[in-house]
Amino acid sequence: MIRYCCDRCKRDIEPGSDLRYTVTIEIEAALDGAETELVDDPDHLDELHDLLNSADDLCSSVFSEEVYQRKQFDLCKDCFRQYMKNPLAKEVAAPRGFSKN
Ligand SMILES: [Zn+2]
Repeated sequence: MIRYCCDRCKRDIEPGSDLRYTVTIEIEAALDGAETELVDDPDHLDELHDLLNSADDLCSSVFSEEVYQRKQFDLCKDCFRQYMKNPLAKEVAAPRGFSKN
């Protein structure tokens, strides 16, 4: 039997009794207009070549990670709720009573 555990709090998610949430995050670099800009500027074209060459050298290069990433997480119900409150991991605002006045 496949057992799942929450990727956030590491607790076991019991099949049948606990709800399991799967979060898939897909990140793609938006290269809107970037190509034409780079081609217009010969210096940038060289830069792009260097980047592509180094990307060839390293299979799991930082370059490709910055262009596309796909991650999948299993979350328990509690962590799902926490995640939904702040899916972009924004800085949490200062607690109340801490306001400047
Ligand atoms: Zn959890």
